[in-house]
Amino acid sequence: MTDQVLAHALDRQRHLVDALKALAACPSVGADPAMAQGMEDARRIIEARLDAMGFKDRQRLTPATRTGQPAIFAQRQDAPGKPTILVYAHYDVQPPDPMDEWQSPAFEPEERDGRIYGRGVSDDKGPMLIALEALAAFVAVEGKLPVNVKLLIEGEEETGSPSLPGILDRHRALLAADAVLSADGARWRPDLLAVNVGSRGNAGFEIRVRTAGPDLHSGRYGGIVANPLHVLSTLVAGLHHPDGRIAAAGFYDGVAEPTAAERDGLDAIPFSDPGFFTPLSAQPHGEAGYSTLERLWMRPTLDVNGMWGGYTGAGSKTVIPHEAFAKLTMRLVPGQDPEAAKQAVIAHLEALLPAHATLEVSGDTGATGAYTLPPDHPLLAAAIAALRHTTGQTPLRVRIGASLPLTEIVDRVLGLDTVMFSFALSDENFHAPNEFFRVSSIAEGLAAWVQILRQIALSQVADFAPYRRA
Ligand SMILES: [Zn+2]
Repeated sequence: MTDQVLAHALDRQRHLVDALKALAACPSVGADPAMAQGMEDARRIIEARLDAMGFKDRQRLTPATRTGQPAIFAQRQDAPGKPTILVYAHYDVQPPDPMDEWQSPAFEPEERDGRIYGRGVSDDKGPMLIALEALAAFVAVEGKLPVNVKLLIEGEEETGSPSLPGILDRHRALLAADAVLSADGARWRPDLLAVNVGSRGNAGFEIRVRTAGPDLHSGRYGGIVANPLHVLSTLVAGLHHPDGRIAAAGFYDGVAEPTAAERDGLDAIPFSDPGFFTPLSAQPHGEAGYSTLERLWMRPTLDVNGMWGGYTGAGSKTVIPHEAFAKLTMRLVPGQDPEAAKQAVIAHLEALLPAHATLEVSGDTGATGAYTLPPDHPLLAAAIAALRHTTGQTPLRVRIGASLPLTEIVDRVLGLDTVMFSFALSDENFHAPNEFFRVSSIAEGLAAWVQILRQIALSQVADFAPYRRA
């Protein structure tokens, strides 16, 4: 039996392409104050569409400070007793630079070979419109949505969501929901049907090693004072054991070894080291005793992102510098307390520090824990069932090695879980020139969004209750 809602949505695919072109023509670069009009134009297009879809209570949300780019909110409470889903997307885009590497102008969307090119088409305007048009199709055909839906369309995702915690906190009653369904967050690999069930956390800081008050002449002082670059190198070399394990005592506290079931899950993922590393001109390297996917998803890391000090200009300078610097960051896995992991690294550096040097820690980049979607969460079950229905395949459960601020912020402030349900693919040049979105992803995405809403409608509010933490 054909799904009338889906049939309606598919009939209007051309309209969606045109709407995407119109929205992507707005230069909504949140990072650039000169593009403020582009941000406003994008908001107005989205707001007009939400009004036409019969969404209520439309408003712009800001934190208590009333600063930053507002998020757009609207809702339809059509399904008493059914779950309320907070659907997330963002209307801001990355800056288009370098401009001269675009084959067609970044903000003049163009269709070529089954792809739409333009800044923001894949991240996140195309995936956002798929979600909105699937909702619109329910309203058009059935007169209502099968579940209660609140929309939160953010304007600061590409600048690190600085206002989002404040927006969620200030408007927690308005945003109250059973779970979050995100139209943002590209799929891991274009060749693999997958759902993301977790991400690593992160933390970082900067260190300064000092061995003297001023820089010193290497002839007058060489051999009688310490060199801070040498000291810094010793500290950095001491961060890991030769087998790749992080040397800081207590750093692995709380980290669980992969279980047999988790190892089986990883083995089921088609993945080869040569296929992954050859295009990077790199070799596999990391903690001994773990596979590449284990290292990437289940093991924490500690990296030096930059080191500097002394003379680096042209020619030579016979100087013994008096200070040296490094920036360090770590990726954290489930079970690790981010603050404790950071303190373990600092204590380790202090223990390695010789008496003739001092160490200063600054530039704390904050600390975010890893996120794991509960394996039996009803929204995850709905996502898997929807993809199975629309593709005939069972999606693989994958984690990502990077951090997803949205999932962490929603978890921390609202106590809710987030399922990423984007139809962007990871090769679509987001954040780079020639960003594109596949036209074929539109039909695929509409089918999946219609189906996931039907799946959620089969569940009850009570099914979500054990997973709400606020
Ligand atoms: Zn995005």
